[in-house]
Amino acid sequence: METLREVLTKADRDGVAIGHFNVSDLTALKAIVAAARDLKLPVLIGVSEGERGFTGVAQIAALIRCYREESEYPIFLNADHTHSLEKAEQAARAGFDEIIFDGSSLPFEKNVEQTKKAVELIKSINPNCMVEGEIGYIGSSSDVLKKVPEGAGIMTTPEEAKEFVAATGVEILAPAVGNMHGLLESMVTGNVKKRLDIERIAALREAGGVFMTLHGGSGTDDEDFKKAIKAGMTIVHVNTEIRLTWRHGMEAALAADKSVVPYKIMLPVVAAIQKVVDARLRLFSSR
Ligand SMILES: [Zn+2]
Repeated sequence: METLREVLTKADRDGVAIGHFNVSDLTALKAIVAAARDLKLPVLIGVSEGERGFTGVAQIAALIRCYREESEYPIFLNADHTHSLEKAEQAARAGFDEIIFDGSSLPFEKNVEQTKKAVELIKSINPNCMVEGEIGYIGSSSDVLKKVPEGAGIMTTPEEAKEFVAATGVEILAPAVGNMHGLLESMVTGNVKKRLDIERIAALREAGGVFMTLHGGSGTDDEDFKKAIKAGMTIVHVNTEIRLTWRHGMEAALAADKSVVPYKIMLPVVAAIQKVVDARLRLFSSR
């Protein structure tokens, strides 16, 4: 069975990326697993502090382990945006494959200090758990937003990336390169797309020397996605697109089926999410 580190090493070498999708419930999880399995691609499932507060930390870990063991399937679990050492420890003990320690709202020096502590703590519990650190603020809400969050938009510099990686020991870096959490209303109703700084991505990969994750992938221009992956992004996060599809799918399904049988009502929602994930995985894995 391949480890997450092996899967990332291979993807990085091949110039492709692993899709990372967040879940709050079994509906989205079923859809993501089905899409990835059909395409025979590894996949990362993410749960933020809020999402795993709802699913349960041990419960989501058990569910992912069950999918993995059932068919030797390379599905991995990430503790997305973890803000405290206590929550990082909890995820490490539950057997998560990756933990993102997010100190990006702190001043740089404080972020370095806290992230270094998190790396030491997580590695002391499970040396195989990969730790991601984050520099640069890209907003924090995976929702449909009226405007760009205050403070977002300042991009990570190669000097910061180099210093941060060397000082903390993170194996994965999440930089700010024009990406943003959530979707603007203009991206949902109109044709506005997020655009990325491709040259900066290449410079950050070179300077940091570690794997990189593109957060806030929802609503990004398709060509920019491909260029960003070629330039050094090995994991791509998509959450808001899944949440939006979940909501619209649910509204349509409830309107079409007046029964009270959840597992029947939810089938078209699973299918709708699967379609979105399928398209994203095809894009991220194509060369
Ligand atoms: Zn994120």
